[in-house]
Amino acid sequence: MIVVMKQQATQAQMDAAIQIMKEGGVKVMVSRGTEATVLGAEGNAKNIDQERLSQLPGVERVMRVSEPFKMANRKYHPDDTVVELPGGGAVGGKKLAVFAGPCSVESRAQITAIAGQVKLAGAAGLRGGAFKPRTSPYSFQGMGDGGIRLLEEARAETGLPIVSEIMSTDDLPLFEEHVDVIQIGARNMQNFDLLKHMGKTTKPILLKRGMSSTIEEWLMSAEYIMDSGNCRVILCERGIRTFESYTRNTLDLSAVLAVKQLSHLPVLVDPSHACGHAWMVERMAMAAVAAGADGLLIEVHNDPKNALCDGPQSITPEDFARLMERLAPLAQCAGKEL
Ligand code: PEP
Ligand code: MN
Repeated sequence: MIVVMKQQATQAQMDAAIQIMKEGGVKVMVSRGTEATVLGAEGNAKNIDQERLSQLPGVERVMRVSEPFKMANRKYHPDDTVVELPGGGAVGGKKLAVFAGPCSVESRAQITAIAGQVKLAGAAGLRGGAFKPRTSPYSFQGMGDGGIRLLEEARAETGLPIVSEIMSTDDLPLFEEHVDVIQIGARNMQNFDLLKHMGKTTKPILLKRGMSSTIEEWLMSAEYIMDSGNCRVILCERGIRTFESYTRNTLDLSAVLAVKQLSHLPVLVDPSHACGHAWMVERMAMAAVAAGADGLLIEVHNDPKNALCDGPQSITPEDFARLMERLAPLAQCAGKEL
């Protein structure tokens, strides 16, 4: 249930409404937006006296909400959420946030070279996997802790906040101490224990869409993190499995629009994992910005042919710089800046 207060409602009128909601046995989430203040009931709202609530002075309207996600729901939080990053950047505001870097951190020389180049081209953050979810146990599994340290060195040189994927709750202390944005990969989108642990940190969580997950399931995963205490969630569409096999996945750009309609959370698009082909990345990135994405996640490698992971979908730093230039006018069309 949500209660929309009149714009001129007083604090006392709001307190009275909150009181009735609490008597109905729910927790109340207050969201002060530019348009209206909204009171959201968290928990089962069936015992709330809706009649009494509707008649209170200061109450504009009371609505039952049919969607199962609440904290992630735009009805509860009409304004867009802006997730701030260390160093002054943000995801979800006017400025497009582009995160770029290799699939995996491979060496000091590799990550520092890429970091310097994507920084110059205007990236908002540096991505790099240290703990990799690989289909085969015989594939490169990532550098682990050592990879995180190298990302930190790259951050010290460039000032770029670092994004890396977590796979185990055991690593949360390491990530809390050293990483700026914690990524939950597609394969772990419904790892509910991991999601609950993400509620215990104050770091922003980049939540990728599972490869076979519906938009509602994805938002329910965001709800797990938010309900566990962390509202700094950034969504990321990375393509879904369909019958098509020419591309690695099928980029669902309509999900950007759906998520923006249903939720206040910012949404990024990852054209690299969606397409699986480096040559498709630029155009799909442009399409994502035109569709209204808040930013992008792009795999960039200085030697894609010899990359230890996801080389075929990685663009070079030069391609990335050109992509950023081409995005600028599109960003403007979409009401954003780069
Ligand atoms: C990645 O970002 O390198 C990655 C493994 O992505 P996804 O979880 O979307 O497959
Ligand atoms: Mn990858």
